[in-house]
Amino acid sequence: MSINKLLIANRGEIAVRIIRAAKELGIKTVQVYSAADASSLAVEMADEAVEIGPASAAKSYLNVEAVLKAAKDTGADAVHPGYGFLAENANFADAVEAAGMAFVGPTGEMIRSMGDKASARRAAQSANVPTVPGSDGVIDDMEVAQTLAASIGYPVMIKATAGGGGRGIRVAENAEEFATLAPQASTEAKAAFGDGSLYLEKLIDDARHIEVQILGDGQNFVHCYERECSLQRRRQKVWEEAPSSALTDEVREKLCSSAVALAKAVNYRGAGTVEYLYDDKSGEFYFIEMNTRIQVEHPVTEAIVGIDLLAEMIRIAGGEPLSVTQNDIVVRGHAIEVRINAEDPSNNFAPFPGIVGEMRAPGGPGVRFDHFLYQGYQIPPFYDSLLGKLIVHADNREAAITRLTRAVSELKLGDLKTTVPLFLALADDPEVKSGNVHTKWLEPWLEANSNKLSSKGGL
Ligand code: ADP
Ligand code: ADP
Ligand code: MG
Repeated sequence: MSINKLLIANRGEIAVRIIRAAKELGIKTVQVYSAADASSLAVEMADEAVEIGPASAAKSYLNVEAVLKAAKDTGADAVHPGYGFLAENANFADAVEAAGMAFVGPTGEMIRSMGDKASARRAAQSANVPTVPGSDGVIDDMEVAQTLAASIGYPVMIKATAGGGGRGIRVAENAEEFATLAPQASTEAKAAFGDGSLYLEKLIDDARHIEVQILGDGQNFVHCYERECSLQRRRQKVWEEAPSSALTDEVREKLCSSAVALAKAVNYRGAGTVEYLYDDKSGEFYFIEMNTRIQVEHPVTEAIVGIDLLAEMIRIAGGEPLSVTQNDIVVRGHAIEVRINAEDPSNNFAPFPGIVGEMRAPGGPGVRFDHFLYQGYQIPPFYDSLLGKLIVHADNREAAITRLTRAVSELKLGDLKTTVPLFLALADDPEVKSGNVHTKWLEPWLEANSNKLSSKGGL
């Protein structure tokens, strides 16, 4: 089955990214949008656009019936869910396929087994992929859970099986904290994801976040090497790079093959990311979760391996085999992505949804800016604050950091406050330059360096 018309069930920069990939493949595009997104760049760029509901995501981008109706009414034969929203909703994937369309992603069954974090842990264990010591499946009895937490050893992480984007996670230092934090994590996850189930993991201190990009067509499976995303605030990534400067070739090989083994174990179809924590000191890595979708930070991998991951996903959904074998995939140079958010770093990253003023986009050699902005655009306050991603690619890490500073300084968005000052300061930090960071590095750094984070008028 080849795809003729693709519906994009998402918004913002990823909708624009998907439209670009579809156009290059000669595929027509249908953009669904909420009333708040009528003047968005994706709506303008797509061949057709259908309004599916009001600003509230629950009534528009998460409204399965409205999205399916738009697909049927426009004669789309495939749906791309992007990331967030319905991307990891197994019932949605099933409904798209039941309606005779291709879901650009894995089957509902694969999402069920890998998208639920507790069952993904079990799948990883069966594929001999090391996991963080923790509970065997979900916890359903608080007393049993407390005994288990004590035997794992505090501090423990309480995590929602349905969690994502850093939500539904708490760290308990002792039994008393456990008793208050577990119900909180459950309530937060129930509200955000409709499922309050929890599991436990040992806290791995001072670890790096390293993840492996994989691709599968149900029969052939490859990895596109790793990304390191250790610079995080509130367990959300703010700066991502590839390759990781922490891995030896030997560990890299073990890590990447374990991700491929996991993909094979579930006959994975589509693009996916296997996330790990990596302990520098012991050289051990531990599986934490698999994201069964395209990820925000996919462009750093595209830069170093020269593969269009979106095009590959769409071709796989159209029934074509992978266009590359493992031997074709070679790493060249170093890439860094920073997330340009509409947030004020000098005011505790408060959201700053304003109007895009006089705009100048960064450019030049080795620079890519994936965004959905234009001069005069009013950023809607209803969705997440990601405005765009600035990606730089150079021969090596040092040159990539220099290029990042140069490219970030070129960006102008009028009076909008963004995370730009944060990246200028980070790119100038000796520890960042030496790559000596871990997932708990950035938060104390922000406390200590708040003076460097005020925006320098109109930057
Ligand atoms: P990535 O590694 O792609 O950044 P994240 O986990 O940070 O992955 O999520 C990317 C986006 O998807 C964020 O906007 C996040 O809020 C959203 N997201 C992730 N998981 C879920 C989920 N289960 N339900 C709803 N939104 C999610
Ligand atoms: P999400 O689905 O929200 O992305 P993850 O399981 O990927 O959740 O975890 C998000 C982040 O939380 C990780 O990148 C890491 O910084 C931290 N984290 C998760 N599990 C652990 C753990 N067991 N020990 C220490 N940090 C962890
Ligand atoms: Mg994660």
